[in-house]
Amino acid sequence: MENKIGAHVSIAGGVKNALDREEEVGGNCGQVFVHSPRVWKFGELTEEEAEEFRKDYKSRGWGPIVVHSNYLINLATPKPDLFKRSVDTLREELKRAGRLGLEYVVFHPGSHTGSGVEKGIKSIVQGLNMVEEAIPEGTKLLLENTAGKGTTLGKSAEQLSEMIEKSDLGFDKVGVCFDTCHGFSAGYNIHEKEGLEQTIKEFDELIGWEHVEAVHLNDSKHPQGSEKDEHAHIGEGEIGEEGMKNIVNHPRFKEKPLILETPVDKDKGYKENIEKVKELQSS
Ligand SMILES: [Zn+2]
Ligand SMILES: [Zn+2]
Repeated sequence: MENKIGAHVSIAGGVKNALDREEEVGGNCGQVFVHSPRVWKFGELTEEEAEEFRKDYKSRGWGPIVVHSNYLINLATPKPDLFKRSVDTLREELKRAGRLGLEYVVFHPGSHTGSGVEKGIKSIVQGLNMVEEAIPEGTKLLLENTAGKGTTLGKSAEQLSEMIEKSDLGFDKVGVCFDTCHGFSAGYNIHEKEGLEQTIKEFDELIGWEHVEAVHLNDSKHPQGSEKDEHAHIGEGEIGEEGMKNIVNHPRFKEKPLILETPVDKDKGYKENIEKVKELQSS
């Protein structure tokens, strides 16, 4: 089976443009926002547009395409108004994913901003239960592991598994997205062979590796355990070329859709980073 690799592409000019952009960078899976990630409001999506997109997507025969949730969403917040807005927005994103025929919505579990880990997780669990009925048939909600800075929750398999287990959602509706930069920054030594095995084992035992349904493949600008979330070009960060080579050739990673969220700057974009991954896989 061909590896699934792609990138987070822009929806400027409408979501319909995302599929061409994905092919331009050499992707056969990927990720999009369904509205601007830093504002609450949604643009209009007519049924005609949604249907056109679904047909176009199906005709290309690749995927999955993951919807990345808005950055303002925080299910762990102790503030009732922000919690409600977060639930409403996540519901709408899930509905949109369903209308577009997309398989996943990935979101960051949230930050407790001072209320404490226990209350934060409780709030996330409540939020998960509140969005459950908005999860369309054929779409799953994925919790993304985080770098763990400050009061951010979801940096470990243990925390993610607690959120899922305490919720009413079964694995037919929920799963995990593993971000390599976040995992490394949170302390997982995935740049070393042994550490990589240990990380997979930990996720397998606590969540089930099969429920890690997508991988965000990013190198990290900051060292292991720094808790800083800044992505680097593949092989050029602290995970490094050898580390990345181990990851992209590991059978348990190769079986997942690898979605890049690497920087786009004047030297390199997604195309070059996807080529780099393929080079590491064949060398
Ligand atoms: Zn993310
Ligand atoms: Zn990510």
